[in-house]
Amino acid sequence: MPPFEIIVVPALSDNYIYIAHDSSNKTTLVVDPSEAKPVVDVLNARGWTITHILNTHHHGDHIGGNQELLEKYNPILIGPLSEESRIPNMHQMIKEGDTIDIGGHEGLVFETPGHTNGHIAVWFEDSDALFCGDTLFALGCGRVFEGTMEQMWTSLKKLRSLPSSTKIFCGHEYTLSNAKFAQSIDPQNEALQQQIKKFESMRADGIPTIPTLLKDELNTNPFLRADDISFAKTLNLEANDPVAIFAETRSRKDNF
Ligand code: ZN
Ligand code: FE
Repeated sequence: MPPFEIIVVPALSDNYIYIAHDSSNKTTLVVDPSEAKPVVDVLNARGWTITHILNTHHHGDHIGGNQELLEKYNPILIGPLSEESRIPNMHQMIKEGDTIDIGGHEGLVFETPGHTNGHIAVWFEDSDALFCGDTLFALGCGRVFEGTMEQMWTSLKKLRSLPSSTKIFCGHEYTLSNAKFAQSIDPQNEALQQQIKKFESMRADGIPTIPTLLKDELNTNPFLRADDISFAKTLNLEANDPVAIFAETRSRKDNF
């Protein structure tokens, strides 16, 4: 079975919707459709129909297109069990450790609370792809709206432990603004400088910076480095535990 072909679809002002397709059996999974129109345009151009929708969390900019796409294509709607009451019309509710079968592609489910209480991420090993919504971003992480800082840090550690070849398909193009913050708190990080240069030229050419690779995030994303002693030293926080360092980093970003 070939890996998914994954199309990055810009939507709203800075959201990404993903369309994962397998032409061998005409499976098409749409991840976090904030709106229907840009999805329908891609499907029409390619002659595809939707078989599945996956929602990572209940926010409107991730589920706003569900209803129109459900009515038009009648796909299976999959989302987090713990957001059952907040996402209408789900057919399949999933939780930590579940595997989902999307046309023969197995997705492993992680609960990643923090941004919302029920947030999930799904990893398709056969495609080296992680759909992580608003938990992990290129050079950043989601705002901690509903959960605690400790939960968010634990969620990020789960995602960090995936193979370093994993492609990170996140919910937003926030990369350059994340880069400004990362640069401000970690100015001596040469790997970070390289990444920022690459991302700036991609954006200048109008190219999405997503997917980013986990191996590149590991040594450049400040939110994955709260237990890295060299990062703690940079912040003069080496006496603190990783949760406190993560919380301090997140709150500096919130006020950046
Ligand atoms: Zn969100
Ligand atoms: Fe979002």
